[in-house]
Amino acid sequence: MSIADNIRALKNETDAINVALLAVSKTKPVEDIMEAYDAGQRLFGENNVQELVEKYEQLPKDIEWHLIGHLQSNKVKYIAPFISMIEAVDSLKLLQEINKHALKNDRVIDCLLQVYIADEETKFGLQYDELIELLHSEEFSALKNIRIRGLMGIATNTDSEKQIKEEFYELRTLFDGVKLSYFRKEESFNVLSMGMSSDYKIAIEQGSNLIRLGSTVFGTRVVKHWKNN
Ligand SMILES: *Cc1c(COP(=O)(O)O)cnc(C)c1O
Repeated sequence: MSIADNIRALKNETDAINVALLAVSKTKPVEDIMEAYDAGQRLFGENNVQELVEKYEQLPKDIEWHLIGHLQSNKVKYIAPFISMIEAVDSLKLLQEINKHALKNDRVIDCLLQVYIADEETKFGLQYDELIELLHSEEFSALKNIRIRGLMGIATNTDSEKQIKEEFYELRTLFDGVKLSYFRKEESFNVLSMGMSSDYKIAIEQGSNLIRLGSTVFGTRVVKHWKNN
């Protein structure tokens, strides 16, 4: 199936159940993104700031870009003017930096807090107690140019469906609890980003409403950096 076919099939599946589809285009050339765009896709995700900025400059301006990878504080300034959502916020320091640059650009930037749910050493994210501490802090309350839209998580890369299901269930439960305790009056706290190509069906069953699909849309990624294609 072509990229356009993939987009149409996935959109059929997800539109009907109100799940947003983020097409993860990291390492893929702008031509591939345009094929998805022409099939109606507007929501795209990248994990590298430099790659994202270069693609942003070349592509239609009605694309909504999500940054899904770990973001270094010193790179926030490059994406602050145009980014739609920063999905992987995992520290107060980063949130403060995003707030600073959002203010400079006269914007409010939507963010997700990334929670650590996987049984792996390498994945970024806030631990449960760090998340609660952040939400409780005065420094956090002072930030007026960021808006927390919800939570994001990455499950363990494993064949065990049971484990993946448990991790997503845990994040869903945490999402509901955090919403009740800290965002009860904010309708905009309504995004639960979980699920990638290998596990998005389980994620949807567990309550995800934003899935991040790379290879299912664009095919497998062979090289790490798009310019070496
Ligand atoms: C690369 C990436 C994805 C997409 O991965 P696929 O397995 O190709 O769907 C989703 N989320 C994050 C955070 C990623 O880095």
